[in-house]
Amino acid sequence: MRTLVFNAGSSSLKFGVFDVASDTREVFKGSFERFREGMCDFRFRCGKADQRGSASHASIDEAIAAIPGVLKQFGLAAPDAIGHRVAHGGSTFIAPAILEDAIVVKIEDLSPLAPLHNPANLEAIKLCRALWPAVPQVAVFDTSFHLTNPTFATTYAVPEAWRRAGLRRYGFHGTSHKYVALRAAEETGQPLSNLQIVSVHLGNGASVCAVNRGRSMDSSMGITPLEGLVMGTRSGDLDPGAFGFLARQLSLSVADIETALYNDSGLKGLAGSSDMRDIEDRAAAGDAQAQLAIEIYAYRARKYVGAYAAAMGGIDALVFTGGIGENSASMRRRICDGLAFMGLQLDLDRNAAPDLSGRAAPQIQAYGSRVCVFVTETAEQLMIARETAQALARVAPAVETIPVAVSGRHVHLSREAADALFGKGYELTPAKPLRQPGHWAARERVTLEGPKGRLENVAILGPLRMRTQAEISRTDSFVLGIDVPVRESGKLDGTPSVTVVGPAGTFASDGLIVSARHIHTNPHDAARLGLTDGELIDVYVGDGPRRVTFAQTLVRVGETSFTEMHIDTDEANAAGIGACAEGEIVPGHAATLRS
Ligand code: ADP
Repeated sequence: MRTLVFNAGSSSLKFGVFDVASDTREVFKGSFERFREGMCDFRFRCGKADQRGSASHASIDEAIAAIPGVLKQFGLAAPDAIGHRVAHGGSTFIAPAILEDAIVVKIEDLSPLAPLHNPANLEAIKLCRALWPAVPQVAVFDTSFHLTNPTFATTYAVPEAWRRAGLRRYGFHGTSHKYVALRAAEETGQPLSNLQIVSVHLGNGASVCAVNRGRSMDSSMGITPLEGLVMGTRSGDLDPGAFGFLARQLSLSVADIETALYNDSGLKGLAGSSDMRDIEDRAAAGDAQAQLAIEIYAYRARKYVGAYAAAMGGIDALVFTGGIGENSASMRRRICDGLAFMGLQLDLDRNAAPDLSGRAAPQIQAYGSRVCVFVTETAEQLMIARETAQALARVAPAVETIPVAVSGRHVHLSREAADALFGKGYELTPAKPLRQPGHWAARERVTLEGPKGRLENVAILGPLRMRTQAEISRTDSFVLGIDVPVRESGKLDGTPSVTVVGPAGTFASDGLIVSARHIHTNPHDAARLGLTDGELIDVYVGDGPRRVTFAQTLVRVGETSFTEMHIDTDEANAAGIGACAEGEIVPGHAATLRS
């Protein structure tokens, strides 16, 4: 499918033509910018041709109208599909949307959330629908990737009435963060669902994203693209008290302040230029303002890297992208210097001149650095082309996969049990975070004792619960010599008790179960996967001759749950899988609900 992609801003128009098949190939790249007095600059690249110059287009509308002629000039046929980058999809658009009239209206309704960006995107959409009425068009939103952010990351601590009016954090650059996280995962050879990645996009706009096992967990931009990092002309983080201060001291209106925060702040506000190349040159020549601007820029970015590693409870990889992230070795170094405490160290030679040609994603960390550091060009247009084709094929990703985790035998303890096993008031020591937010494995272990035998070194999962529950496999039940039913976690009535043995005493558990296989998921992923809380579905797990279908897998939707299927060790052995694998939902599953 030949796809024409538009990224229309308020002062520039970037576009590209892509062939989307099993892989996606860029065949043409173009831009119109610096609109002034009836003219603008253009650049067109196609194969070996690289044309630059000025054209007599006074506005972006005129430039768009000229595109069919440009494509013809380079021998490119009319597109089969058109993809548009749209800045703000609010909480409405969790995925790309085919641009029917009703969708255009919904995007218009979201303009108050992105008054500088959405109207420019909409203008291009309307013109393209008029120019290519028979070509299907798709909107791909900068915000969609971040709609998996948990509520505690997206909620501002402000009065309820403001929140009800729609004030919340969204995050932008989603297409870029998603693409570079995928590239980093490809390079490590691990599934994205195994990795904790901090993605640092440093262009004219700049943001950091915590990509926690494939899902955006947090990002530095907020309800608008103003929050977070220092940018070319945008301030990034600022004490909201500044509004009152500026109104009183300088008699500025909200509109004055907002305009200055968008257009006259950031690098431009600090050093008079929004262009990092200029600033680096001036800093090297001894300009104190430029030197301070660089220090502030790097410091803010480094703080976010540390914060997001902490938010995810770990970091496997850091990825740099965007004009500054890709090209400024000194900025990458300033951001990474001092992060050795969290296992991240650069190799200074590799950092000096990474070769990014052919969409390479070279690693620039030092030998022995636990955290991998990547540099790669972002490819938002390529991702938009891919997602446009997927939306039109109505097969989002062809197969929906879910990470599968294998649960070993473990217990959940009540306060009373912890007192009996370890001593009154004993606090368990969290040793390893689990993927489900707020859950952990404790350093302490216990023994389970049955009429036939003992299971030693059994894990304790925290935090404490109301009732003490032990979860074992069917094989384990024969070791203990107890007949144990398959049950959903927490449904302990009528299940046997087992003696739990700790260093300070014993405790008879409230229940002992073989845990029913289940999928944890959150409302966003459940909607995407077409799942409902309490539903029983079939899931394929494993490859090759031991691939099995796990029938009647229970779906459990929780507000902040990480999407993951849990099976026990017997089930994992039956499917021939190790500690982690992927499951595929059997298509067309019947909506059976648990009894
Ligand atoms: P946009 O967000 O508009 O796509 P880019 O990703 O092109 O922006 O990034 C533009 C920024 O990248 C500018 O600040 C520019 O100075 C900076 N940049 C480009 N090349 C270099 C370089 N070699 N060294 C330092 N900064 C660079």
